[in-house]
Amino acid sequence: MKILSVSDKVEKQLLTRGNTLLPAHPDIILACGDLPPEYLTELREFYSVPLYYIEGNHDIRYDDSPPLGCTNIHAQIITEQGIRIMGLSGSRWYNGGKNQYTEPEMKKTIRSLWFQLLQVNRMDIIITHAPPRFINDKEDPCHKGFRSFSSLIKKHKPVWFVHGHIHSFFKTPADRLTQVCETKVLNCYGFFFFETELVEEQAKS
Ligand SMILES: [Zn+2]
Repeated sequence: MKILSVSDKVEKQLLTRGNTLLPAHPDIILACGDLPPEYLTELREFYSVPLYYIEGNHDIRYDDSPPLGCTNIHAQIITEQGIRIMGLSGSRWYNGGKNQYTEPEMKKTIRSLWFQLLQVNRMDIIITHAPPRFINDKEDPCHKGFRSFSSLIKKHKPVWFVHGHIHSFFKTPADRLTQVCETKVLNCYGFFFFETELVEEQAKS
């Protein structure tokens, strides 16, 4: 499956006819937060593919004007063309604004998915706004990652863990990626195109 992931920065060029930014037409778009809802609507309409999103700490307009035709997958696991995708909105709590969670709150949200997680041997993709703690994160209260994301990676071994929230300049695609055991942790700041294969479901022991 060909995936266009976006977060944090509007890339108007992605909406320009004839642009050569992507190596192929995406099958789906994953949005990892801190983007105007209108941009998501435009992306979905421009590429005519499903768009799944979670919200970032700056997405304060989504309740009043949600992106049209797009699907919020916060605290959900969905299956798209056989690929299992889980979503978790928000950043760490730092001033009480929208989409901010303490570590125990995020842990509780993940725990609420226990039944769905039990059905899945290995996750294909997890999308979040914040990064896992100590992976691509920073030390200020807003940009610290979640420890519970690291546990999620350890336990459910997603092929891809895609986040935003951390604004960085990347010289090469490899600069965006951190390999954590079997998982590629990706900072999709701006946009990043990648492909993933279906992970074969193994028999549960
Ligand atoms: Zn953010």
